[in-house]
Amino acid sequence: MKEAAPISGDWLSSLINDFIATSPVNNMQNEPAEPAWDSALVGFASGVDPIWQQYKEYVGAFHWTPWEVFNQHRPEQNVSAEQLTVISWILPQRDKVRETNRRENRYPSEEWARIRVYGEEFNVALRNHVVSSLEKEGHAAVAPMLTLNWTIVKSERFSYASSWSERHAAYAAGLGTFGLCDGLITARGKAMRAGSVVARISIKPTPRPYSSHHAYCLFFADGTCGKCIDRCPARAITEAGHDKEKCRLHLARSREYVKKTYEFEGYGCGLCQTGVPCESIIPVKAAREALERGELPPMPPPLA
Ligand code: SF4
Ligand code: SF4
Repeated sequence: MKEAAPISGDWLSSLINDFIATSPVNNMQNEPAEPAWDSALVGFASGVDPIWQQYKEYVGAFHWTPWEVFNQHRPEQNVSAEQLTVISWILPQRDKVRETNRRENRYPSEEWARIRVYGEEFNVALRNHVVSSLEKEGHAAVAPMLTLNWTIVKSERFSYASSWSERHAAYAAGLGTFGLCDGLITARGKAMRAGSVVARISIKPTPRPYSSHHAYCLFFADGTCGKCIDRCPARAITEAGHDKEKCRLHLARSREYVKKTYEFEGYGCGLCQTGVPCESIIPVKAAREALERGELPPMPPPLA
């Protein structure tokens, strides 16, 4: 590895968006070979942010801090948490993909199912690209979701959870807050996929422009909406939240439908991410307008 050159947030944002624009892997693998994604939102969180410890307490001790996952895989670096930055990105679903899924009421549209498989293949390539590009510049990096010991764990509180969550990394990096259905509502809505890399670089953290982890959801902001409850064909969403097991079973059932109807090995659902007010924007007007004005809440966000 060569001697480390300084890295900026702009450099990383360009790296990610250039890869989206030029990689042949960014492909839905359909007849017109349409791109899976058109651009990304990018944010940064410090490895020493207390939120990582809060996740351990809130999600479970099995949930890695950036320092834990980095040191498991790059122990020779002997870093402290202060030396690490989490790079997080959001890949918003394209208009056409959202529009087709909006019309569905039980299983995903072909476009949505293609993104779930081939769009995520691109997301894997993007994680690898960010890691290898940083390594070329002399900075060690790890993509937690691509590590061999990333796993899903039974959780008393959440039925099951994983050792690293892209949505939680994105929340920490100022990119969005959670909705009633557990999805992350970002500045470009909840219909999206997320990715992240932990790197030995120093980048100013992106401020979290929200006052709670539910600030962008209408149900929590003013007791209205609940549209994702009606959209869910598996009755996995109620006013009490998201039943992960019911959701998982529905996703498993979708495999047969996708194979029979669209003739490829895929799956998906995402009905709670489309045909809802948070599909492509922050639906809480005051929060959306405050973000557009660049305002920050007076207090750091509480997690629970
Ligand atoms: S559909 Fe409504 S209740 Fe559900 S997450 Fe979006 S804003 Fe919240
Ligand atoms: S992904 Fe589908 S099954 Fe799961 S909560 Fe959303 S609408 Fe329901």
